[in-house]
Amino acid sequence: MKNEILEAAKQNVERKGFLDIDLDPEMDLFAAIERLKKEKNAVVLAHYYQEPDIQDVADYIGDSLGLAQQAEKTQADMIVFAGVHFMAETAKILNPSKKVVIPDFKAGCSLSDSCPPPLFKKFKEQHPDHIVISYINCSAGIKALSDVICTSSNAKFIVESFPKDQKIIFAPDRNLGAYINKVTGRDMVLWNGACMVHEIFSLEKITKLKVRHPQAKLLAHPECEEPVLRIADYIGSTTGLLKYSQTDSAKEYIVATETGILHQMMKASPDKTFIPAPPNNNCACNDCPHMKLNTLEKLYLCMEYGSPEILMDEELRLAAKKPIDRMLEISKQAGL
Ligand code: SF4
Repeated sequence: MKNEILEAAKQNVERKGFLDIDLDPEMDLFAAIERLKKEKNAVVLAHYYQEPDIQDVADYIGDSLGLAQQAEKTQADMIVFAGVHFMAETAKILNPSKKVVIPDFKAGCSLSDSCPPPLFKKFKEQHPDHIVISYINCSAGIKALSDVICTSSNAKFIVESFPKDQKIIFAPDRNLGAYINKVTGRDMVLWNGACMVHEIFSLEKITKLKVRHPQAKLLAHPECEEPVLRIADYIGSTTGLLKYSQTDSAKEYIVATETGILHQMMKASPDKTFIPAPPNNNCACNDCPHMKLNTLEKLYLCMEYGSPEILMDEELRLAAKKPIDRMLEISKQAGL
């Protein structure tokens, strides 16, 4: 490719979020990505909510905890993070010397956006005797204001690692926080944030679906609202939901989380039926619009040309790393 075209595309990354370069429609992207992995000593980490093609080229597919653990131990020179911005940022926080690229820089997160650091700092100042536990779905700025990070896989355990009388602020997801309050008997102060995908499920439509599929079990992510969690047969992280669907004896499941996870569920249990829980709108899907900004083409381009790249201020990185290290340490001790 001509240098001028590449330079122009790189200059446009900030505006567009990705390298907008035309590819040969005949190109075998799967083979090209495999070649780049070897040439660049690159590892592709993908979240369960990515489109199936991306999941199929990934070296590791997981939820936030698994991805952070993989990012921590990788020997690769380049981390290609197929997920949203805060996840790639976490990989960079843990690997400052490695090149971390993301297919689309604008793949953000409504939950992370619902907790801007300047407002949260004021909120924290109003509760000076509280420690802060933040869900990993937040920006580096929020992580830097936190004492420890958690994921949906380890949130209960992290909260319970503190004495019962320890005052705690939980941010940014109010639904996960309320669920953890319920299962631990704590009374954490909750930041009022939420995920646009998990808030949208319709209790009424799920109930009707359960009537039509009486044998189906409802699997729900704890970011869902309380009325949905109340009727769930199993509540857990994406990894937890996947494992449950593999080991449980039922044949049919209604799945209340982002639809990307269904790809792995169907691959692992081809004899079972998985039905996405219906959202509270006219659309039949519950895709995360941020996660789905990433495509196989964009993934190839970010690997080939090393852009968009995650870069970070060192002071912020060090402050954000502390609570992540604490989480990884607590999780390791617990064998999670
Ligand atoms: S599913 Fe929700 S929490 Fe996850 S990236 Fe999308 S908006 Fe954020």
